[in-house]
Order: sequence, then C-alpha cells, then structure tokens
Amino acid sequence: MTTVYLIGNWKQHGSRASIAAFASQWSFEGHEQLAVAIAPPFPYIGELGATLPDCLLAAQDCSIQEQGAHTGEVSAGMLADVGCRFVLVGHSERRVHHGETDELIGRKLAAVQAAGLTPVLCVGEDSAMRQAGEQNHAVRGQLRGALSGMASSVLIAYEPVWAIGTGLTATPDQVNDMHAVIKAEVNAVLGGDSDVPVLYGGSVNPETAPALLGCPHVDGALVGGASLDPGAFADIARSALNSLSY
Ligand code: PEP
Repeated sequence: MTTVYLIGNWKQHGSRASIAAFASQWSFEGHEQLAVAIAPPFPYIGELGATLPDCLLAAQDCSIQEQGAHTGEVSAGMLADVGCRFVLVGHSERRVHHGETDELIGRKLAAVQAAGLTPVLCVGEDSAMRQAGEQNHAVRGQLRGALSGMASSVLIAYEPVWAIGTGLTATPDQVNDMHAVIKAEVNAVLGGDSDVPVLYGGSVNPETAPALLGCPHVDGALVGGASLDPGAFADIARSALNSLSY
C-alpha cells in the first residue's frame, strides 16, 4: 500500500495557547494512506499529542547519546517514550547554524533507528551549488555521508536550502529530477530496491502543493511556515491525498 507523508516542522514556534488554537481550527479527515505528522519544539510534544491525537508526532533533532551527562540533549529513546514516530536529522538549519557534519548526522540517524523510530534525513544544495550545476553531486555526497551502513527504514526530505523559508519554490521539474537522482543514489548506498520515500520541502504552500505533490517521484512534503496555519496545512494534506490518485 502506497503511503504519502506530510510532516510539519514548527521550528522554534508555538506555545500551549497556539497548540489549543491550532487544534480548534484543524479540520481534516485522516486517511490510512496519508501519514500526517508535526514536529513541535521538544517541550510541546506531549501537549500536541494530547491535543491533536489525529496527528503523528515528530521531533526536530536528537542526541547521538542514549543517556548520561549531556546537558541540554534529548535522546531518541526519550522521543520514542513520549510517542514520537519520526525524527528530523540533518535539517539545513542544523547543518548551517550548528555545524552538523554528514558524519554526525549519520550517527544521529543510527540513534533514531536504534530507538525504533523513523529518521527523516534532510538533504539539499545551497544556491551557489545550484548555480554551479553541482546540486546532484552535493546531494549524492550528503546521502552517502549519512546513509552508509544504515537500515532502509528512513525517509529522505529533499530541501534545497535556497527554497527554505524564502518563498522560492523549486519547480516541479527540478524536484522530480532531483528525487529520481536521490532514489537511485539511495538504492546504490543501501543496496537493491530500497523503495525509500522521498519528500520535498521548501516553501510548500496550498498554491504550490498540488503540482509538487503530483510529481511521480514525490512521496510527500516537509512543510515549515505553512504548517503553523491549520487551514493551510489541511489544504496541503488534501493535495497530498489527491496525489494518491495520480
Ligand atoms: C523547513 O524548514 O523544513 C521548510 C521546508 O520550511 P518552509 O516550508 O518554511 O520553507
């Protein structure tokens, strides 16, 4: 059975009041072939799970450590314990602002899999790489750097850095071409036909979602800004559902 994934990344936004408001305005009929998840800031994971039981829970990051004297860190096991299903790893904001390397991201990915959760590995080129025509090379390198030796229980999110939070969206052709490159590379790294779902992220909104989610190689979306708006996020969820019939 094909599954489409829609994951909202709330980044450092939200409060108990905004979660209550989101839940009161959220109106979307779930579907067994659509997995809708939200990654709120860590303190709100429990609150979101209790308030919006129809949505799956995700986290935005995790530690490579299981437990111990690591002040400020949150382990994948703890995220599993509070009901998370997915953990983002290697988001470009972590790579750029926190110096995360492919090697560290690979260790986080392994920690997430070891806890029985599904990592969402974020990859994507910056605008200089795209302008130089090096986007395929850059993304293949990120995949190889983090995925080698991993199990195939992973989602990939292709997020061109130049499209995140900028209002610029990659064209459906650019996205579809890159997703084909990613699927081939993932099969080469993990071996065989691993059939790993590949999501697109980068200024997805209700207007751009139908064309992007309708691309044959696109298996869902990772949504930042628009996921904070329950009406916009539900519209994108409907586009995701419609894409199942293409
Ligand atoms: C993101 O941060 O993962 C993202 C896709 O953000 P936005 O949708 O706001 O571009």
